[in-house]
Amino acid sequence: MLTLKGKSVFPGIAIGPLALFHRNTVSTAVRPVEDAEAEVTRFQKARETAIAQLQGLYDKALEKVGEEQAAVFEVHQMMLDDDDYIESVETQIREEGLNAEAAVDRTAQQFAEMFRNMDDDYMKARAADVLDISHRVEVELCGGQGIDYSTYDEVILAADDLAPSETLQLDTDKILGFVTSAGSTNSHTAILARTLGIAAVVNTGTDLHNDVDGHDAIIDGTTGTVYIDPDAETLAAMQAKKADEEKRRAALEAVRGLPSETKDGHRIHVFANIGNPGDLPQVAASDAEGIGLFRSEFLYLGRTDYPTEEEQFEAYKKTAQALGGKLAVIRTLDIGADKKVDYFGLAPEANPAMGMRAIRICLTRPDLFRTQLRALCRASAFGKIAVMFPMIISVAEVRRCKEILAEVRHELDEQGMKYDPAMQVGIMVETPAAAVLSDELAQEVDFFSIGSNDLTQYTLAIDRQQTTLDAFFDAHHPAVLRLIRQTIENGHKAGIWVGICGELGADLSLTETFLKMGIDELSVSPPSVLPLRAKIRSLDLHGTK
Ligand code: PEP
Ligand code: MG
Repeated sequence: MLTLKGKSVFPGIAIGPLALFHRNTVSTAVRPVEDAEAEVTRFQKARETAIAQLQGLYDKALEKVGEEQAAVFEVHQMMLDDDDYIESVETQIREEGLNAEAAVDRTAQQFAEMFRNMDDDYMKARAADVLDISHRVEVELCGGQGIDYSTYDEVILAADDLAPSETLQLDTDKILGFVTSAGSTNSHTAILARTLGIAAVVNTGTDLHNDVDGHDAIIDGTTGTVYIDPDAETLAAMQAKKADEEKRRAALEAVRGLPSETKDGHRIHVFANIGNPGDLPQVAASDAEGIGLFRSEFLYLGRTDYPTEEEQFEAYKKTAQALGGKLAVIRTLDIGADKKVDYFGLAPEANPAMGMRAIRICLTRPDLFRTQLRALCRASAFGKIAVMFPMIISVAEVRRCKEILAEVRHELDEQGMKYDPAMQVGIMVETPAAAVLSDELAQEVDFFSIGSNDLTQYTLAIDRQQTTLDAFFDAHHPAVLRLIRQTIENGHKAGIWVGICGELGADLSLTETFLKMGIDELSVSPPSVLPLRAKIRSLDLHGTK
């Protein structure tokens, strides 16, 4: 039995076979080809595999999300069957002597350029699709797609580390949990694991290799331990612990449907955090009273081009409708730092967490911002949406955001498009600057949502991804708690509501402190909703605030 110790990300217990994660490294470099016909055959085989994969995705999407959403995989199959596309690749192989990877890549770029130059918005959007299908073929040509989940029913995934975009693309139906040798508990990968409620241990410091692929494994997320080839005694102990854990979760069902209220009648709202509409079933299952943070940047990850206004509109509309009148706070994109997107073409930075990220990108590229705001406003006609701006450091930034929002609304008016003119506008308080200026900022907005993850990182000057500084890190640092208290007080003085959507909101050892500070809302990962509500209902504040 091999025992690894790491950091727990979600306190679940998973038992199952281990599957090693292989990264999709794609090289489309030109290399000499001796046999052009063999290269054409390689392309044809990869193309057929890609079509078969898309058929699998279509079937799955049809079952899970319906025909309308599944249609994209059908369109992608048709694009891979397109005669012009196939001819272009084969001609480049036969007449220009290119290898299949390079020929597919060039064809993809040429077709994407052609789509981008079309007048019709629908056709413009096909540029992203042609890049996407070509990438699928390139991955096949370069050795295949990550893990073949089909050989397993359910697996525990082992990786060196996972980028947020990689986590997003995992087949979560089949993942019981994951273990990584690197990574931090505050990374967005960890946050995704919490959203999905899957057991995860990161930073074990040990890379796992092929010799343990498929072996039995256990993740004990309550202690941050991973067992590979567990002995009979450990297996029995863990099975018993898992059963206890399931009982504990079942007991939480007692607070489902009840208000998030202390024994002495102090009531707040418990909301859920999500990354995309795919998380909506988790929100419904969690019994959250709304969505306190929709990290909209996840819609931009794992793609080859910007999501269009229509794509975003559909995602936000679906969210608004699914909530049936409950509030959904949608944060405008927070790309940058650990959430990297190649097609944004951002210059490399020495300190990306303190660089071009979030609202700074939006204010530098207002067209990008306008597209997102148009989609958000249009979706607000279908439910109760609030918009929230991230990484704010000044009153001037908020005013500029509101100006652009007003312009977008004016444009929609002129086009006769519907939106909710009463949509709430808020900001994240996640920089020390925003917390210190919270009295002035509160005059500008309808609500504050405290981003404790970044607020802690910037207040303590400790990179949230950096695990070697753990000895200096204190999640309950008095400076952070003081800034939170000050933000709540300043918000209330101006008559606006204040919530917390960072990970600290789910820290049950702070629930009483936050309630006494007067917090109005706590937004946590869906599996944390019921435990938090149970905690709130166990408290008696004796009338203190
Ligand atoms: C935060 O910083 O606390 C927050 C909620 O935003 P993110 O974790 O996405 O940076
Ligand atoms: Mg943040």
